Amino acid sequence: MGDRLQDGSRVCIIGGGPAGSFAALHLLRLARERSLHLEVEIFEPRDGRTQGPRSCKGCAGILSHGAVHNLASLGLQMPPEVVQSELRSYVVHVQNQAATVDQPHRERRILSVYRGAGPRLRQGPSLAGFDAWLLDQARAAGARVIPTYVRRVAWDGRPIIYGDAAPIAADLLVLAIGVNNRHPLSSKFEYTPPQTAIMAQDEIVRPASWPDGKVAGFFGGLPGLVFGALVPKGPYLNVSLLWPGAEADAIVRFYTAHAQALARFFAERPPSLCGCLPLIAVRPARTCFGDRWVAVGDAAVTRLYKDGINSAFLTAGAAMAAAVEIGTTAAAFAAAYAPACRQLAADNRYGELIFRTCQLALQSSLLARACIGCVRAEAGGQTARRIFSRLVWGMLTGDESYRDLFRLLLSPVAWSRLAGEAARVLRERR
Ligand SMILES: Cc1cc2nc3c(=O)[nH]c(=O)nc-3n(C[C@H](O)[C@H](O)[C@H](O)COP(=O)(O)OP(=O)(O)OC[C@H]3O[C@@H](n4cnc5c(N)ncnc54)[C@H](O)[C@@H]3O)c2cc1C
Repeated sequence: MGDRLQDGSRVCIIGGGPAGSFAALHLLRLARERSLHLEVEIFEPRDGRTQGPRSCKGCAGILSHGAVHNLASLGLQMPPEVVQSELRSYVVHVQNQAATVDQPHRERRILSVYRGAGPRLRQGPSLAGFDAWLLDQARAAGARVIPTYVRRVAWDGRPIIYGDAAPIAADLLVLAIGVNNRHPLSSKFEYTPPQTAIMAQDEIVRPASWPDGKVAGFFGGLPGLVFGALVPKGPYLNVSLLWPGAEADAIVRFYTAHAQALARFFAERPPSLCGCLPLIAVRPARTCFGDRWVAVGDAAVTRLYKDGINSAFLTAGAAMAAAVEIGTTAAAFAAAYAPACRQLAADNRYGELIFRTCQLALQSSLLARACIGCVRAEAGGQTARRIFSRLVWGMLTGDESYRDLFRLLLSPVAWSRLAGEAARVLRERR
């Protein structure tokens, strides 16, 4: 379809988060397989080795099984110091009721990592972060990392990149800037970034009584809170609130609302070691490619509330395959990249329905208790017969497609179990 990458073509990737690093890794692998020599440059101003928000991405840092598997498919093996914890169970809290959900598929590993170098107020040496490690892998594969913030991208027959040094003309521009920075593209590109929502994050010391590998998830308790999670990361707990419109006091309000459940671990409110209000993408970008440019990762489309790192892997892989195998024109990306983006966006619509249904249903104390009862009843049962625990696990980890979870939610077995539990709760109340 034209404008294929050739020997010596220059590919400029703006952003060295997961999407940018994955784009470089996919591209260099595809080029190597074709004996194609490309100049791949990643523009990334953060060093990833500074503690706190300056090198971090405000992210819970859960790597789904899909992400872990896909890293291995690129021949990447995470060093042990990057992995903070392996997550094996969730304790779900709803309206002061709790139930434990164990990993439904024991062979599927879910890991937690730091995206930066650890909490801002950590004492001692910085921790090894996922993003810095992944960028190092891209560098080792042959990409050149330029520690520069790209201020502007103009168009003169091809993208022209303006950073700190002389302007650079790119044969292909890959936009991997996430959603937490203003985009630098001129209006010629007609790029409209994804719609976002504000979330809240903190880091605290993990109490000695908190088992490594156990995540606490909280549904409801505050108006608009989708869910909150306390995720073990080595000696710390990441506190992550999916709470569109969260304000500066979000974390404190969360602790207060769930004080009863947390009292087992914390005698008083745990001191904050970090904290930020990052943006999360909730709708895809309206245009995410054109002639000689393509957006990947959060800047294009990502799974709703979950699994953004694996989405970055998937979108970067599809975009780079399109560029190498078909071409770098808008038509090439429309044919070979757009379907992957549409698939993610379509799955998110099921996700929206699931989260909205849960938010509504769990406001009723009868339904909340019935759901918790269903999860408890499935504990220890065969994986194939679990419905509610799979639903909770999938919603919290991103380990299954939302479409599959939606099917589970609509299954007659789910409704009959829920009705049975609701009847039991009503009998107990009488
Ligand atoms: C509260 C919260 C919790 C989350 N939890 C999880 C989770 O548990 N698991 C998961 O998989 N995902 C999670 N996500 C989503 C995940 O953080 C994103 O999907 C992921 O970071 C997307 O990667 P990316 O490379 O597209 O963007 P980013 O990680 O944001 O990387 C973009 C990079 O571009 C650079 N950049 C931006 N502008 C420029 C410029 N002009 N010039 C040069 N460089 C630039 C930035 O410095 C940054 O390094 C969470 C998100 C939030 C907000």
